[in-house]
Amino acid sequence: MYETPFLYIDGEFLSGEGRKTEEIINPANHEVLGHVPHASQADLDRALAAAARAFESWRDSSPMQRSEILRKVAQLSRERAQEIGRHMTLDQGKPLAEAVGEIITCADHADWHAEECRRIYGRVIPARSPQVHQYVVREPVGVCAAFTPWNFPFNQAIRKVCAAVGAGCTIILKGPEDAPSAVLAIARMFHDAGLPPGVLNIVWGVPAEVSDYLIRSPIVRKVSFTGSVPVGKQLAALAGAHMKRITMELGGHSPVIVFEDADVQKAAKQLAKFKIRNAGQVCVSPTRFYVHEKVYASFLDTFVETLKGIKVGDGLEADTEMGPLAHARRVPVMSRFVEDSVSRGGKVLLGGEPLGGKGNFFPPTVITEIPDDAMIMTEEPFGPLAPVVPFTDPELVIRQANALPFGLSSYVYTTSLQTAHRASRALEAGMVNINHFGSALPETPFGGVKDSGIGSEGGTETFDGYLVTKFVTAV
Ligand code: NAD
Repeated sequence: MYETPFLYIDGEFLSGEGRKTEEIINPANHEVLGHVPHASQADLDRALAAAARAFESWRDSSPMQRSEILRKVAQLSRERAQEIGRHMTLDQGKPLAEAVGEIITCADHADWHAEECRRIYGRVIPARSPQVHQYVVREPVGVCAAFTPWNFPFNQAIRKVCAAVGAGCTIILKGPEDAPSAVLAIARMFHDAGLPPGVLNIVWGVPAEVSDYLIRSPIVRKVSFTGSVPVGKQLAALAGAHMKRITMELGGHSPVIVFEDADVQKAAKQLAKFKIRNAGQVCVSPTRFYVHEKVYASFLDTFVETLKGIKVGDGLEADTEMGPLAHARRVPVMSRFVEDSVSRGGKVLLGGEPLGGKGNFFPPTVITEIPDDAMIMTEEPFGPLAPVVPFTDPELVIRQANALPFGLSSYVYTTSLQTAHRASRALEAGMVNINHFGSALPETPFGGVKDSGIGSEGGTETFDGYLVTKFVTAV
């Protein structure tokens, strides 16, 4: 049974009664799963008041108490992973194994925050006079407003909630209305783990209206957003106008560089599997493939062959390796990328057309012989599309990789230590993965540079965005 969505405000679960609602559609078959209630202005005001009131005591809660709640959430995530994962597959579309895997990994995120929140240290600064004592403390910033998307609905929400709660902040979270089940499950887990009322509040609505209202509120001191670059820029501008702190995890267009000395077969197989993860709706998905001309043909053979064998289907079917796109509106966008490539001389080696029938299915697609200014080489595809082009000059390929305003993730395949070091220094990206995919672990920082964002989530940096620095000097 798909859970009836609710608002969670001041420790209470509020139904859709009397509120505007929005349909939740299963992307695999277009069936209506349920309705998500929109928060009224009165609901938002109540959430703001609850978060402000809860902050007065939560800011002084002991790290031990916070840690205990986060640990309990980790345990509940593991216990409930199958059930939450099933709901996530229903409303988001990803294969069940991927959905369950996302939740299990997030249990580790909760554990990591439980550990790190006990290490939010200050420091003592040696004074110029023996009578003076000066020290630095890091305090929770206050009430946070967070906005999370639909592609990793559990992961992106729980990381923000864990960071806020662990730092001693309170939070109002607006999750994705189109795939709400993961965020509803998060509300239930924190509630069941004993989080005091008002520390976490969940609202839904028209994204632009809710974010505008919350960011303008003087109660909110910090804004965290994961989503597209244009929306991120709008929210950052509004937050800036009201002098609020921000964490922005935005889009990317991750270059892959396969050098001539790479283990080409391994690279091709690994990248094919990584490309179709979450149907390519991953901000760090490999999206621009530059392969040295000497290994280009052999890379393409294996890459295309591996993708050809991928089973596309309903995420609840046991053998499905790639599910539908989360939204029907994205299917014609995929076709536009392909059409633009073909109009510029591109060759479609695999896929290229929607699979038709019910559901938002678009197959893994490989396109070659495209110029640098093709739409697919400049705009984030956010789907199962892989443009592959050859290169000869290792310096030039780095310039091509850095040419876009994005700077999220990047991938390098080489067996030369020198090439690996040179590329990792030269790539303008928040994350560089060499010969494997190793990002997004709880203990490692995740974030972008340039248009891809501001701030990191995870790693020892995870609380930085939720803390302010206070200097105290006394005689
Ligand atoms: P979109 O920009 O319309 O929405 C992206 C997310 O932001 C959604 O969850 C949406 O509800 C939310 N959003 C939109 N406007 C908002 C606002 N004014 N205030 C608060 N939240 C708002 O894009 P889309 O069509 O849903 O997704 C496609 C694009 O979004 C992709 O091309 C990709 O770049 C980006 N995206 C990135 C991530 C990421 O992990 N960085 C996640 C999802 C989507």
